[in-house]
Amino acid sequence: MQRATKLIHHPGCYCEHTGAVNFPIYEVSTFKQDGVGTNKGYDYSRTRNPTRDVLEKYIATLESGEYGFAFSSGMSAITACLMLLGVGDHIVATAGLYGGTFRVLTTVFNSFNISCSFVDTGDLHAVVGAFRENTRAVLVETPSNPMMRITDIRATVELAHARNALVMVDNTFMSPWLQRPIELGADIVIHSATKFLSGHSDVIAGLVVTDDEGLASRIQHIQNSVGAVPSPFDCWVLMRGIKTLAVRLAHAQASAGRIAEWLMGRPEVERVLYPGLDSLDGFEVNKGQADGPGAILSFLLRDDVCAETFVGSVSLWTLAVSLGAVESIITLSSKMTHLCYPREELAKLGIGDDLVRLSVGIEDVEDLIADLESALKKTVNGGVRQYDKT
Ligand code: PLP
Repeated sequence: MQRATKLIHHPGCYCEHTGAVNFPIYEVSTFKQDGVGTNKGYDYSRTRNPTRDVLEKYIATLESGEYGFAFSSGMSAITACLMLLGVGDHIVATAGLYGGTFRVLTTVFNSFNISCSFVDTGDLHAVVGAFRENTRAVLVETPSNPMMRITDIRATVELAHARNALVMVDNTFMSPWLQRPIELGADIVIHSATKFLSGHSDVIAGLVVTDDEGLASRIQHIQNSVGAVPSPFDCWVLMRGIKTLAVRLAHAQASAGRIAEWLMGRPEVERVLYPGLDSLDGFEVNKGQADGPGAILSFLLRDDVCAETFVGSVSLWTLAVSLGAVESIITLSSKMTHLCYPREELAKLGIGDDLVRLSVGIEDVEDLIADLESALKKTVNGGVRQYDKT
């Protein structure tokens, strides 16, 4: 079965009992037992719920893995995977990855004596150099948020496995429609399903997939023990969103390519970072591991063009955190998604106040470009600087 078909006709996608073409929402916490310890496979919804079961099988199928797990947010999915580590362990992670992941590693897991080195995982020498005797995992975000740094997943797997470390990939930016890290050898795939998978800015959820039975049983144990699970309704909403992933992404990706080209020709723009442009470092690596460049891009505005004024001057684009939705979203990463990074760290990463991130939605691309153009004009001609860019 082709992947586009699997998005619609996945295991358990309709109700066997009634023929309903959408699996029902089992909005239930507990299940009547036939006798003590005898049940129909379900006893309590934190442990297992029929609607969540279908979602978990669905994401496992899409990510080419055997075992899927649903969480109440992308952060709880990441946290569950980090809980596979133990006291004294060390992890190597992509420098500049999503601010919430940086925060949980540096302000929560550090209290449990789990340390992290943030390196440019696009540079394999840097990854090798960061390895310590106690390194147990490499956490990769590719493309990274918002610098669009590309990490070679296959090569990372090779070097990490040779050193007895797991490879976890945050696949939020690409989604399984464009990139399937397990096929490239990764041990664990993580999603903020809040983004492209749900696609409609209407649910917060996380998903994890692995092909390894031992890891699966440990993740399931953590999922049940910690209990950060999504409601059956959220599972259902998420499944409805996933069905249209391919058509949404095809449209958004085509528009992102067109917007990237348009931005390249603008005098106010210094640099465009998009995996579809051969000027991006890692362009070839991305082509070799993903089925497309995706629908997220970032760009640097010229020094004398105030990015904060610019993002406040759009009218069609939504100024917001988050990404991967049907509506196009514009973000000033340094002051929004990456606010929890120390300022000097952001400066080192190149995530300055002049960097704008775009998540392209499915509106008409000419309308999106016209809105960006009008905001650029407003900013340059009489835009009021809202902050000092030093
Ligand atoms: N990973 C990436 C790449 C993200 O962009 C985000 C959120 O923006 C997360 C993880 C966290 O996901 P959530 O907001 O669903 O907890």
